[in-house]
Amino acid sequence: MSYIEIQNNLHTIKQRIADYEQKYARTPGSVQLLAASKSQSIDSIIAAFDAGQQSFGENYLQEALAKIAALQDKKIEWHFIGHIQSNKTRSIAEHFAWVHSVDSSKIAKRLNDQRPAQLPPLNICIEVNISEAETKSGIAANQVLALAQYCQTLPRCHLRGLMAIPTAHTSFNEQRDDCHKLFSLWQSLQAQHIALDTLSLGMSDDLEAAIAEGSTLVRVGTAIFGKRVEKKE
Ligand SMILES: *Cc1c(COP(=O)(O)O)cnc(C)c1O
Repeated sequence: MSYIEIQNNLHTIKQRIADYEQKYARTPGSVQLLAASKSQSIDSIIAAFDAGQQSFGENYLQEALAKIAALQDKKIEWHFIGHIQSNKTRSIAEHFAWVHSVDSSKIAKRLNDQRPAQLPPLNICIEVNISEAETKSGIAANQVLALAQYCQTLPRCHLRGLMAIPTAHTSFNEQRDDCHKLFSLWQSLQAQHIALDTLSLGMSDDLEAAIAEGSTLVRVGTAIFGKRVEKKE
């Protein structure tokens, strides 16, 4: 994708988010856009940044650290959205403002203990395996309350919400059903007096369903940057 194409895509996605907010009676501006930039070049990130995008999500730590170093003069808010191995928590705690993929008390504790004292508490979301797919990461829905209560005791982490990557359904109604499951869980935690303000839900292909079901933060990659060459770390 060229510089201009990325900027046009970003503009189109922002317009779609605004349209869906209106269509589903959501408050204007209540859905944040996180640009999922894994496997995308530094120049692609710069194109989106120059068009006003300030928060970027990365999945692979080594790749992310190189980008963070290269772009350190820009006011970018970095979010870690990939699977977390426990030997990587220190670097994640040192270099990111948000982590969306906390799925165990062990990982949460390590992030808390390793968060540098001079930085504000790390914003975290609990990743939920909402579609109950065996291949997906995330904690089972019936264990989320206990993990959320635990995260609330961690002074260097600030529990912000829940995240999920639902199974890729093609039917809009099936997408909505999965998104609704996460929304219900999010609401039930709040009914248990756990303050949450973030529902991290929705990607390029289920953006509309996610916004219809209450997402407050969509993580969009392909629709901004084009197809990526997938890799594993
Ligand atoms: C890659 C990725 C996205 C973005 O997916 P697209 O389909 O490219 O929009 C969002 N969230 C997570 C966790 C991802 O790994």
